[in-house]
Amino acid sequence: MYLKSIEIAGFKSFARKSVLDFNTPISAVVGPNGSGKSNAAEAFRFVLGEQSIKSLRGKRAEDLIFNGGKDAARANRASVKLVFNNVQRVLNIDFDEVSLERVVHRDSSSEYFINGSLVRLKDIIELLAGAHIGASGHHIISQGEADKVLNANTRERREMIEDALGLKIYQYKKEESIRKLDKTEENIKQVESLRREIAPHIRFLKKQVEKIEKAVEMKTDLTKMYHEYFCREESYLNNERKSVTSEKEPLLKKREELEKELAEAKETLAKSNTRDHKSEKVMEVEGKLKETRITKDSLMRNVGRIEGEISSLIRLLKKQKDANSAMTNKTVLLSQVENITKEIDLEIDGAFETSDISKVKEIFRNIKKLLKDFIEKNKESENKQAEEEIENDIKGLESEKSGYELKIKDAEKLETELEEQYVFLKSEIEKERDSNRDAEKALFRIVAEQNDIRGHLSNLESRESILRKNEEDLKRELQEGSILVGIQALRYKDFWPTSESGVAVSLEEIINEPRQVQEDRRRALEKIKIRLEDAGVAGGDEIMKEFKETSERDVFLAKELEDLFKSSESLKILIKELDEKLTNEFRLGVTKINIQFQEFFTAMFGGGSAKLSLVKEKKRKRSDTDLTIPGEGEAHDLTEEEEEQEEGLDIEVNLPKKKIKGLMMLSGGERALTSIALLFAISQVNPPPFIILDETDAALDEANSRKYGDMIANLSKYSQLILITHNRETMSRAGVIYGVTMGSDGISRLLSIQFEEAVQVAK
Ligand code: ATP
Repeated sequence: MYLKSIEIAGFKSFARKSVLDFNTPISAVVGPNGSGKSNAAEAFRFVLGEQSIKSLRGKRAEDLIFNGGKDAARANRASVKLVFNNVQRVLNIDFDEVSLERVVHRDSSSEYFINGSLVRLKDIIELLAGAHIGASGHHIISQGEADKVLNANTRERREMIEDALGLKIYQYKKEESIRKLDKTEENIKQVESLRREIAPHIRFLKKQVEKIEKAVEMKTDLTKMYHEYFCREESYLNNERKSVTSEKEPLLKKREELEKELAEAKETLAKSNTRDHKSEKVMEVEGKLKETRITKDSLMRNVGRIEGEISSLIRLLKKQKDANSAMTNKTVLLSQVENITKEIDLEIDGAFETSDISKVKEIFRNIKKLLKDFIEKNKESENKQAEEEIENDIKGLESEKSGYELKIKDAEKLETELEEQYVFLKSEIEKERDSNRDAEKALFRIVAEQNDIRGHLSNLESRESILRKNEEDLKRELQEGSILVGIQALRYKDFWPTSESGVAVSLEEIINEPRQVQEDRRRALEKIKIRLEDAGVAGGDEIMKEFKETSERDVFLAKELEDLFKSSESLKILIKELDEKLTNEFRLGVTKINIQFQEFFTAMFGGGSAKLSLVKEKKRKRSDTDLTIPGEGEAHDLTEEEEEQEEGLDIEVNLPKKKIKGLMMLSGGERALTSIALLFAISQVNPPPFIILDETDAALDEANSRKYGDMIANLSKYSQLILITHNRETMSRAGVIYGVTMGSDGISRLLSIQFEEAVQVAK
């Protein structure tokens, strides 16, 4: 038993909450006309998600809500809740009991609940499709719709059968896949359009990026060239500066020296007028010298005269003395001789006692003197006086001579001094004469040297001015370089030029390189600078960034496109597979149904034949949605576009003993029987959990009612049956009978009743 109960509240005539429990295989609902039995059957349709208000016998959603009775106010909402026993997991949800509930409000909004949780209509439909309770309602036959399956066109019939065969789930999957495919294809178009849109931009950016890359390459080249150029230039200029300075320094020093020399020479020449003064002085000294010499000569003459006088006096004195010495035979007393001998002996003794020769010599002198004095004492001189006078004269003359000699000495000293002065002055004058000559010579030499130096210095100054210009140029070029290629241009000091063979070039080579080669380098630099400026790729980083982002986006889009194509392909495959499955299962199902149909048909009519046959149909559009509930997008789910060629289902019947071949030719009862036979056949092949038959038996006579009853009893083995009936036979098959009554208030009420009571009520 799958269906447990239905709870109806506010739905149509069921103003108050009414519950029907279905705990037997067959439940019957009986009641007088207009009491609300069909409303109960519609409550099933409603809760199962019926979207067609027309098939619920209404025009607007409001018509489904209790509209008020004599003493009863109208309801604001209608709700129906169906409770399933799901122990066997007939419904694909992991609960032993499942309740489905639908609520409709006066503003036409609908709400669906599964076990009290708000869900979408789609969820309800999918859940039910899995249990063969499809929206086509093949298991709910409303009043007057017993021959619905016969009246339906081939396509509708096919749908009913698909639903009954449980193929709807594949249909939904297929529809969903088609929708997904449509969406995917739409996305593909969008992505392709996006890619088309960005393609020109990417092309533009690519060109820019190529330019930037070229510029970067040029910058790299330029940086290398700058390094070589700067390195060589700086080395050259430093050397030039050093060489100019070292050449200039001695020249400046020399110039200074020459200036000093010049000043000196000039000064020397200026001094030449002092020479006259010196000549006068020489003459003066000459005069003095002459005078001194005259004085000296006169003094010397005096000395000569005195010396003559002295020598004549000496001669006179000698004569006097000679006269005196003629008295040598004079006799002396012995005692006197003895005395003198004693004195001499004493002296001689002294001489014997000493070994010092000088003392001995002294002693001899003393002896000599003793003897002389003895002799002198014993002489008797009458000319002694004259002798003394001569001696005195000589003495007088000698002292006069010494006086003159002193004066001569002074005169000689003065003469010497004057001579020296004379010589000095003479040499000074001579010297001055020489230095003037030198100064004049020097003057010529200095001027010549100065001219020479001036020439050299002027050369050096012009070299210096070129150097300064070159230094300024280098400074400017360094600035330009750093602006053009960045700070790395200034890192040339880390670099040293190498020859073509990769050997480091010597400083000597750099210095001695012809300037033209460096000039050529500078020109090459200028050329590449111009090309770089022409490339005009300002904001390179941003363009690179944009190119990267845009390319990444394009790659992303391409990847997305690839994914979309893949999913489109897999969706197409899935759709194809579903199509095949649907076709195969449908055909298989139809074959199975046909066997049952034939059996039920034969049982009903006691013979004859009936079968469903597949027919090809042209494409047709269907929209069976006339219940448009705001906010319910799912309404769209039931609209579909049929394929160009589609298989529909036709019914072929052959009544026994009658030559009737078309459905149109059947009587009302025959139609009902055929329809029931088909419905039962369908249900037998793939039994739904429950079947509701609303007065399907209305047109049957008693004999057929029995057959109908038998079939119901048989069918109830597979599906739970809820039968709305006035038929006594049908009622007799039910395990529980519910009576529906409607009082004067227009409200339907439910009650469980006995068979007899039911028969009574039914009447
Ligand atoms: P029969 O045996 O003749 O087929 P029935 O028992 O099936 O009758 P229903 O057709 O279920 O009767 O009930 C129809 C009754 O429900 C009508 O009397 C109608 O007034 C009432 N009804 C329908 N819609 C509403 C509504 N929205 N509000 C109140 N009553 C309604």
